[in-house]
Amino acid sequence: MIRCDKCSTQAIIFQKYSGMHLCVDHFDDDVLRKVRETLRETKIFGRGAKIAIGISGSQDSSAMMYILKNLFARRRDIELVAVLVDEGICGYRSETISAAIALADRLDIPKITCSFKEAFGVTTDEIASQDRLRAPCTFCRAMRDALLNRTALEIGASVLSLGHNLDDMAEIVMDKCLCGDPSSLSRLQVPYLPSEVVPVIRPLMRVPRAEVALYARTHNLSPYASGSCPYLGEAIRLAVKTALNDFEQKHPGTKYSLLRSFERIIKLQDKALTTKQVAGAKPLSGGGEKEGEREPR
Ligand code: SF4
Repeated sequence: MIRCDKCSTQAIIFQKYSGMHLCVDHFDDDVLRKVRETLRETKIFGRGAKIAIGISGSQDSSAMMYILKNLFARRRDIELVAVLVDEGICGYRSETISAAIALADRLDIPKITCSFKEAFGVTTDEIASQDRLRAPCTFCRAMRDALLNRTALEIGASVLSLGHNLDDMAEIVMDKCLCGDPSSLSRLQVPYLPSEVVPVIRPLMRVPRAEVALYARTHNLSPYASGSCPYLGEAIRLAVKTALNDFEQKHPGTKYSLLRSFERIIKLQDKALTTKQVAGAKPLSGGGEKEGEREPR
């Protein structure tokens, strides 16, 4: 029996990137620590919030909803609403939708369901059958993002929570760079200002996909594995996913490095934007910077 590195009980996981064996309780602690760290950085829960949680019935979104419910159980000023999007993918969504609804009911979280058919008059299946040149994920993802944002705005949510895990984030960063579009990474992080776009948080972005799946299994959250959409094989993301998994196997920690790259790019862009805004700002009353008001350098 392999024992947990933090206590004497049986380990359920070995984290190659940290070199740690963890038992079920310490694994739970580790997942929650990573989620708390991510949420703390958003700095948006100080004065309450209405959180729209994008759910799909996948292990990722199920684990996210469960964790948010437990983390904010005592916060009366934080309201959770589950938002479920039906893209219209025959034989795939019907099963995951039932799982998502059952979990929202079990956690006593109010839910809203919306569909591509109602919102746009067309399903992913219908577009895929007409447009054979583009991979279905290209439009499906854009339409889902738009519908989630629209629904979050309609219900007055202050933030939209998505179930992207560490692997998803690493794949997105790699994908954007391979497509020659790293500047679009900034669109993943919407500033916390009132606008037409609801700010997005990703509580699971520091938790590897395999660990989210293990967390979902150990908490009996979802009988369905994510990623079983019939169109998944047509996406460039699948090739990126395979390459990254291979790289992670040989060089543990690669996905965390990609996530850090993303965070640094965002910080640099924010800094550049602030510098530009400061440089372009006009003084309220002529005279410029007074002694004592200067930023410490
Ligand atoms: Fe849509 Fe692609 Fe996800 Fe399937 S895998 S639900 S087509 S984005």
